[in-house]
Amino acid sequence: MAKKVVSQLVCDACELKGEEEPSIMQMKIDGDVYDLCKVHGDRFKRELRLTFNRSVENGNAA
Ligand SMILES: [Zn+2]
Repeated sequence: MAKKVVSQLVCDACELKGEEEPSIMQMKIDGDVYDLCKVHGDRFKRELRLTFNRSVENGNAA
């Protein structure tokens, strides 16, 4: 019998809530790596931009 095993990274933040959402991005800070879904990735990006006093809408500037 042929068998195929597929692995999928799930969002670390969703997993803490007992949910399984596929991870679509990774955030690396020094040695820490976080796998995140779109919702959590966008949330962390927004918070980091705010931390560095950058506009959320124009976060690519500077
Ligand atoms: Zn998530």
